[in-house]
Amino acid sequence: MNIKYFDNIKKREMEMPLEKMVKLLLALEIDNSFHIETLKAQAIIIRTNLLRMPKFLGGKEIINLNINSLEFCKNENKIHKACEETKGIVILFEGKPIDAKYHICCGGSTENAENVLGNPISYLRRVLCNHCEDSPYLNGEKIFTIKELEEKLKTKFHKIEEDIGTEVLDIIDNIKRDKQGRVISIKIGNRNFKGYELMESLDLNSTRFKIYPENIKFISKGYGHGLGFCQYGGENMAQLGKNYEEILKYYYTGVEVKEFPLPCIKKPIYGKVIVIDPGHGGEDKGHKGVSLGLEEKNLTMKLAQILKSKLKDKGAIVYLTREKDENILIANRIEKANEIQPNFFLSIHLDYYPNSTKKGLEIFYFKEDREAKALGNLILKNLKENLIPTRGIKEGNFYVFRGVKASSLLMEIGYLSNIEEEIKLSQEKYLIKIANSIEKGFLEYFVN
Ligand SMILES: [Zn+2]
Ligand SMILES: [Zn+2]
Repeated sequence: MNIKYFDNIKKREMEMPLEKMVKLLLALEIDNSFHIETLKAQAIIIRTNLLRMPKFLGGKEIINLNINSLEFCKNENKIHKACEETKGIVILFEGKPIDAKYHICCGGSTENAENVLGNPISYLRRVLCNHCEDSPYLNGEKIFTIKELEEKLKTKFHKIEEDIGTEVLDIIDNIKRDKQGRVISIKIGNRNFKGYELMESLDLNSTRFKIYPENIKFISKGYGHGLGFCQYGGENMAQLGKNYEEILKYYYTGVEVKEFPLPCIKKPIYGKVIVIDPGHGGEDKGHKGVSLGLEEKNLTMKLAQILKSKLKDKGAIVYLTREKDENILIANRIEKANEIQPNFFLSIHLDYYPNSTKKGLEIFYFKEDREAKALGNLILKNLKENLIPTRGIKEGNFYVFRGVKASSLLMEIGYLSNIEEEIKLSQEKYLIKIANSIEKGFLEYFVN
């Protein structure tokens, strides 16, 4: 099984076997002084992430590889061993590869997905980790001047010159001045000073002084977003005798760690996750057919169900954003899709144009999503071969596209305002033809 990637030097798309790619990325990702079980855990994380990409290093995340980096991992025995001994093993949640997030050092506890990614993910839950206490990355500090903070954060502090008091709680307070601004007494830390005492101790030029807090220090614990696997925590667990499976199961809640059956001829899109979104539902009926009165919500559902069973037969894991005739807000559909984290999201609708002969199926993809465009073109080609009238593929800027964090297509499968097309759409065999074309598009997209 080959993985596609973009070669930064040759400036073109290339391929390499999955296990070789895991080895290369592992060597780039982690120092080989780590314990062998940590390296194994990291190898499995890398393999898992490769297998869940839309089209192996494609889609919205394109990984650019520097081919020279291939050379230096050839003789890394430990890297080699970590990959060989976990060959084919991935992390699964409900049967599909997880989004195996990881970071260098969590500093005491990992993070819940919703606090970083905006939506909850069942296996990315907060776990306590006292394993990374000795990590060189545990403590970090950065000092910013007031001016730097104002620039970086585009914020404004109120002008200190205007504030004759200038107390900094628990650091400098109780400042007493005479009317002309000379400091009579002041408390710094836990001591009280007379103005002239401070002037002498600090060698100030006069007792008429103001205080400007110039620098602000941020002290942080941990390194990275804190989601999922904590590398230094894992390392400590390995030192204490835990194996890669125990380590991974500790940081990813409720997962399985096991061999992933790779796609085969009978199930060529095995493990691919696809979310189909049948438009409308419940009291939101969508458009209504001009002659037979067909309702958009029913047609989108029919096609979604036909397509779901076809894609499942080919090995895909398919979810619908609604299972029955109910009204679900687009925001909730987006939320559901983002929880599932599919390889592809496909929304189905129908069009309407009053008093028109307009007809044909139209496909939309989100701007610059080259994977969605590629899939859309393959589907379009198959629709044409099946003699379905089409109106081509275009960029679209639908709300759902902006929300779903996966490559997405939206299809308007025909015009309910066109008598001829509505009659066709009323026949199941016509919907099956459309579903066949979409299915074939997916097969060609994922397999080639
Ligand atoms: Zn940790
Ligand atoms: Zn619609």
